[in-house]
Amino acid sequence: MPRMPKWMGDAVENLMASKFLTVTVTHVEYLSREVKRVCFAGDLSRADCFPGYAVSFRVSALDHKDYTPVVFTKDTCEIIFHIHGNGPGSAFADNLQVGDSTKMLIPRGRKLYREGGDHFFFGDESSIGTCKAIMQEVPCAGIFELDEANWEVLGKLEMQVDVVHKHHGNIVAALDKHTLHKEMTYVLTGKAASIQVFRKLLKERGVSSSQMIIKAYWVAEKHKRGSFAT
Ligand SMILES: Cc1cc2nc3c(=O)[nH]c(=O)nc-3n(C[C@H](O)[C@H](O)[C@H](O)COP(=O)(O)OP(=O)(O)OC[C@H]3O[C@@H](n4cnc5c(N)ncnc54)[C@H](O)[C@@H]3O)c2cc1C
Repeated sequence: MPRMPKWMGDAVENLMASKFLTVTVTHVEYLSREVKRVCFAGDLSRADCFPGYAVSFRVSALDHKDYTPVVFTKDTCEIIFHIHGNGPGSAFADNLQVGDSTKMLIPRGRKLYREGGDHFFFGDESSIGTCKAIMQEVPCAGIFELDEANWEVLGKLEMQVDVVHKHHGNIVAALDKHTLHKEMTYVLTGKAASIQVFRKLLKERGVSSSQMIIKAYWVAEKHKRGSFAT
């Protein structure tokens, strides 16, 4: 969602009141120093959610930020936040405590998987929830680029995926351990620049664009041209 003046944020919330759900935090847990699982409860029966859909929270007077439910039922929602420490969304998530009440915009977006068939996932800390949600629907292998401090998260969530170091990991070696095939769907999320690199590696290995579902979640500041979440 784009950054907007406070009055506009207030107006959006009032005009779209029926699209906002009030939720209360029921559980918080740091899965690592920078990855936090938060469970919410509320009446969510008006909304539908599929893996890849995102909710939005108003994280400051001016900003709304998108996050992907791992679990979304008629009365519970679970989200895995990356507490990267550089923005209002990260601060909002870090501050959430049991008993807090907040509003969230109903899930929307597109499914980031295809019914049936094997999937291969690429992402970073911001995509852990998305991958976990997809794994609950279809078989999914994958590679994550993570800071070493967050490697333990994947085991805690019982996610059988490979992991490489975010800054000096050998992504080519990790990818070449896998057999890629034409029936596979490749889901690329997370940092825009990393997606570009991974997409190129897949293309070089014969994967076509039609086999890929791509959704950039964030851009590094030097490439940033304003908030772009869609
Ligand atoms: C559809 C969708 C679903 C998403 N789902 C999730 C989710 O489930 N969990 C989740 O944690 N994130 C998720 N994200 C990503 C999240 O919305 C962005 O990371 C967002 O920019 C965070 O806002 P912020 O206010 O913390 O940082 P911003 O104010 O947007 O950015 C501030 C600075 O932090 C940097 N930055 C932003 N995000 C990251 C990051 N992840 N790691 C390192 N640096 C970063 C920026 O480059 C910038 O320099 C999703 C994004 C989209 C579009």
